[in-house]
Amino acid sequence: MTSEHIAGIVASRRKAFQDGITKPLAWRRQQLNGIRSMLTEHAAEFEAALASDLRRSPTETQLAEINVILAEVAHAMKSLRSWTAPRRVALPLSLQPGRGWVIREPLGVVLVIAPWNYPVQLLLGPVVAALAAGNAVVLKPSEQAPATSAAFARLVPEYLDARAVTVVEGAAAETTVLLEQRFDHIFYTGSARVGRIVAEAAAKHLTPVTLELGGKSPVYVDDSVDLKAAAKRIAWGKSLNAGQTCVAPDYLMATREVIDAIVPLLDDAVRELYGEDPQTSGDYARIVNGQRFDRLTTLLGDGTVVSGGRTDAEDRYIAPTVLTDVAEDAPIMREEIFGPLLPIVEVSGPDDAIARIAAGEKPLALYVFTNDESVRRAFLRGTSSGAVAFNVALVQQTVIGLPFGGVGQSGMGRYRGEAGFTTFSNEKAVLSKPLAPESLALIFPPYTKRVDSFARGLLRRLS
Ligand code: NAD
Repeated sequence: MTSEHIAGIVASRRKAFQDGITKPLAWRRQQLNGIRSMLTEHAAEFEAALASDLRRSPTETQLAEINVILAEVAHAMKSLRSWTAPRRVALPLSLQPGRGWVIREPLGVVLVIAPWNYPVQLLLGPVVAALAAGNAVVLKPSEQAPATSAAFARLVPEYLDARAVTVVEGAAAETTVLLEQRFDHIFYTGSARVGRIVAEAAAKHLTPVTLELGGKSPVYVDDSVDLKAAAKRIAWGKSLNAGQTCVAPDYLMATREVIDAIVPLLDDAVRELYGEDPQTSGDYARIVNGQRFDRLTTLLGDGTVVSGGRTDAEDRYIAPTVLTDVAEDAPIMREEIFGPLLPIVEVSGPDDAIARIAAGEKPLALYVFTNDESVRRAFLRGTSSGAVAFNVALVQQTVIGLPFGGVGQSGMGRYRGEAGFTTFSNEKAVLSKPLAPESLALIFPPYTKRVDSFARGLLRRLS
């Protein structure tokens, strides 16, 4: 695709937006329905695409991709009227009579750039929000999930209004050209490295950005919980999509006693989830490409493997693996792992764990397995992260009422449900006053004693 072609695509979407095509609620509903129909009528095609891209099981594609978006669509359809209704705002007495309200209007043409790891959910999630808010959208799926990208390129024009919604396939070169165009919002999900490139390009046009990035999401476990049940949830969270999940538990912190108890339980949990040999399980995914496989196998050398550890380069298979004795400055503890390796770090207790988290970058998610209310409160007070989940991993991300996003190096901005609608809207403030009576006379010059005493007393009390 040439630069002219990409510029032309964006210009056409802008024309559609300026012509008002995307604004009526009926149009927005049609698009949301289109997404629903595309996913339900072509579920098998998306399942096959994800099987090809990540060797994902069809059930997991339903659970972690299609169902998440169908729920978003249903929620947006149900909420559209209330989200778009003007919101009355109370006026201070000094501005009465009058009326104030907020209108949430679409921004214009938005760009959604998605990664490969959940290539349906992470592309369509923001798109549902953008369309519900009445925008024209350019979708850029990840080239690292080529079968899913091709499915979108073929199906989106069939199901969504091609005047306002377009897929642009491609890698860094095409995305660079896209980023040269002027958009009204850019929603990027992926690595912090590319996040910086996106933010820099957006700054040239003063385009607002949402950056959904990654980082190291810690887990803390204490002995107040059923360790067997905790181990299963942690093992599942780390193994889903072979650990290639932005909110996957990255590393685990516990006291020596808890570590000794939980290591065999994590091993048992993997067996329960994927059988004796996860490589033969149809439910266990593969590493997306050879380069990432090589990086992860190198990280295996950063500690002592106490569970799992088997790899197969040809199959890009890495077993769910637990490591101990990892040095704090080893790459596995400095970089986001983004694979099925779980290093365990010994801490002296919750305060030690909190201090370590607080000393690092703010994570996307924090998982605390404890039934001790004072420990829960200490983690909430002492750390900052995009989300905190107690006694569970990952699933906080699927709750539509919980805004999803990062803080600091794990990202900026939020989506899911109304948070996504707000991200893609301009909250326009409107004030309307009749010309009579002239209540503003009280603040107009000349600044007589009367105005002055009004400013010092009454106005302050009334506003
Ligand atoms: P990726 O390689 O698919 O890249 C993401 C997007 O950026 C792709 O569409 C790609 O084409 C584009 N891109 C790549 N290089 C570019 C460049 N030089 N210029 C412009 N665009 C470019 O995905 P990834 O970055 O490998 O994804 C993994 C990372 O994403 C992890 O850090 C993970 O934690 C994070 N992530 C975050 C979330 C979240 O919701 N917060 C979700 C999934 C993944």
